[in-house]
Amino acid sequence: MIDAAYKALKNYFGYDQFRTGQDQIISRLLDGLDTVGIMPTGGGKSLCYQIPALLFPGITLVISPLISLMKDQVDALGNAGIQATYINSSLSFSEGRERLTGAARGEYKLVYIAPERLEVPDFVHTLERMNVSLVAIDEAHCISQWGHDFRPSYRSIPAMIDRFVRKPAVVALTATATPNVTEDIRHLLGISPEGVVVTGFARDNLNFQVIRGQNADVFLLDYLKENRDQPGIIYAATRKEVDRLYERLSRNGLAVGRYHAGLSGQERASSQERFLYDDLTVLVATNAFGMGINKSNVRFVIHYNMPRNIEAYYQEAGRAGRDGEKSDCILLFSPQDIRLQKFFIDQSEMDESLIKAEYQKLDQMIGYCHTETCLQTYILRYFGEQEFENCGHCGNCLDTREKSDVTVDAQKVMSCVKRLRERYGKTMVAKVLSGAEDQKVLQFQLNRLPTYGIMKDRTQKNISEFIDFLTAEQFLVQQGGAYPTLALSERAVPVLKGEAKVYKKGRVRAERIVVDDA
Ligand code: ADP
Repeated sequence: MIDAAYKALKNYFGYDQFRTGQDQIISRLLDGLDTVGIMPTGGGKSLCYQIPALLFPGITLVISPLISLMKDQVDALGNAGIQATYINSSLSFSEGRERLTGAARGEYKLVYIAPERLEVPDFVHTLERMNVSLVAIDEAHCISQWGHDFRPSYRSIPAMIDRFVRKPAVVALTATATPNVTEDIRHLLGISPEGVVVTGFARDNLNFQVIRGQNADVFLLDYLKENRDQPGIIYAATRKEVDRLYERLSRNGLAVGRYHAGLSGQERASSQERFLYDDLTVLVATNAFGMGINKSNVRFVIHYNMPRNIEAYYQEAGRAGRDGEKSDCILLFSPQDIRLQKFFIDQSEMDESLIKAEYQKLDQMIGYCHTETCLQTYILRYFGEQEFENCGHCGNCLDTREKSDVTVDAQKVMSCVKRLRERYGKTMVAKVLSGAEDQKVLQFQLNRLPTYGIMKDRTQKNISEFIDFLTAEQFLVQQGGAYPTLALSERAVPVLKGEAKVYKKGRVRAERIVVDDA
């Protein structure tokens, strides 16, 4: 059977070899085994169901939230001589009906549908009478509440699958799933633990970098001047910021477009189209842009603001370099971004446990902005990959500044956190350490603690930043929601006992200037 798969690969797509993971996923599906496939962006997920689709007798149903991608894929399949169609809200009612009837008559090998269709009883009724051999769920993390893009209509998928008389094979594909989300996908779809194929998340051609403490506009303009004519995306957190950057970059003579949900459908479509066809070099956008954008030569993705979690960041940044060429993923961090993201979380109408989980994810995102370890490694660890050698080309790997031993300072912070019984947040810890004569400090009598003022030669801000560093390196953890408290992690124990050391690069301390006016 796998011979037939190689033939289809060559005949329809012109490729000689399967990529890592593709062969494994495809041969499982050809054996009728349900599978969760986790592959990085650009890893070649589409072929994982398109090849089986060609070899199975019945229809392959592809569920995808990406309306624009559906059309592209169907066109591409058509060019390769494969009959495919899509049914989504961009079609009129009668067009949709016509395609569905065509599908029922077996006119197509692949039928792409938007998940919302599964909430239309009539549609599902027609569907269940069709000869479906395979159900492919694209962007499968959308089925999980713990994923970063939960779509309630995805929850209709398991029931829909159960309604077929002859059970089709199922494949769930995604590029962004933490171990939690993978488990959730697996459970909801009833797929066994052996059914998970993970090919690794690493993107070797991406150069990750975090820029802190620089004027973001100046950095951006310099970068764009240096990289003129290179296609790239700039993500900003709000529509207002997108509009401002768009104006500013346009004034600087750059071929720039913008994209956000506040623009008309026509404007958005035009920006997207012009960017895809290299008519616009740079696109400034909110996160409304991009899921499923199939532009392979994006040379950089700059985040003007920190996004809300690593999953969202990796997915957005991952739109760079899908062609495998070297590309930059730069995050411009400013502490205000934290406040904005907290505001977004508080505004959302999630229940308490989800809000708490969102806060924890945000903490890990903040950690990314402060860590000194390899940025690719940091991301991979987040996704549950432990064995990875440093990438050697991210901002942190290339940071050649000397390391200094900051063990004693780390011990001071850790003892203070412990003395405060892990009940206070970062600000209070920094106040106590710097010996601030703050009303709250005095009210709670924290000035009587032995750790009060033991770092009084440093500013409160500097201590706060040092705490951020210790949190990013996972010596400390933030617990709780909007007002997290600081606690010690397991990594702190050997440091406190003097069995392990802590090193930090670059400027370690900003001494407080003592004015001696005696
Ligand atoms: P994903 O959905 O995982 O982001 P795609 O399915 O869009 O990735 O594939 C990314 C690119 O890789 C596409 O241009 C595709 O044609 C190409 N590709 C996929 N599989 C192979 C293969 N086995 N050999 C060569 N190129 C491939």
